[in-house]
Amino acid sequence: MVYTSLTSPDNQDYPYDIKIAHLYGDLMNTYGDNGNVLMLKYVAEKLGARVQVDIVSLEDGFDKDSYDIVFFGGGQDYEQTIVARDLPAKKDALENFINENGVVLAICGGFQLLGKYYIEASGRRIEGLGIMGHYTLNQTNNRYIGDIKIHNEEFNETYYGFENHQGRTFLSEDEKPLGKVVYGNGNNQDDGCEGVHFKNVFGSYFHGPILSRNANLAYRLVTTALKKKYGSDLKLAAYEDILALEKQEEYGDVKSKAEFE
Ligand code: GLN
Repeated sequence: MVYTSLTSPDNQDYPYDIKIAHLYGDLMNTYGDNGNVLMLKYVAEKLGARVQVDIVSLEDGFDKDSYDIVFFGGGQDYEQTIVARDLPAKKDALENFINENGVVLAICGGFQLLGKYYIEASGRRIEGLGIMGHYTLNQTNNRYIGDIKIHNEEFNETYYGFENHQGRTFLSEDEKPLGKVVYGNGNNQDDGCEGVHFKNVFGSYFHGPILSRNANLAYRLVTTALKKKYGSDLKLAAYEDILALEKQEEYGDVKSKAEFE
């Protein structure tokens, strides 16, 4: 049964509404990925939107017209196997949501399952939704674990995170990476790509959670969803006014261990 896990306070006026579907939020929630939902809510409220977050899980219908943002977090192979059995029932609605430029954030296991298939550590193949063209292979006795930094040339934005995945993902021709790897492994250690950007779908291996560490990306997701819903000329508070760290220049980029070495 779809249930609401979080809402904005009732005693405040918000000019806008944002509804978030947290896909399989009770199963796919590794490494604090649920923090992304809190960050989406925080940014949306700062921009004047009342937020409702619904958990849409096994055997629940996904009503694409009810939601502005979908969040699909990471999970262990075991949970991914369970979720994969349920995905075909939601495929058409999710595919329409994505094709109609709905905003999606998919992390790690969720990112893998939007693609064609994922070969889990044991070598078993898990079918993905196949809505997007990427696929994920396994590797022998290894995981990609550690700090990672990427740069997105289109947005001229840098994102920081912590990756922890077994899968090696390869993008299709029509998919762009979320960013080029500055340091870390990324999707597969070979092609210098990390994550995916396809229509308004943003996928990544970053935990941390990605949006709490990268408020610029959170702002991008929420403003994209609000403009899609209320019109592209909607005037919203600037990033600098609501989210930029006052002390950012003084401190510079938050350096990771890898940068010091
Ligand atoms: N089980 C997948 C892998 O190891 C996804 C991991 C995750 O979501 N953190 O690649």
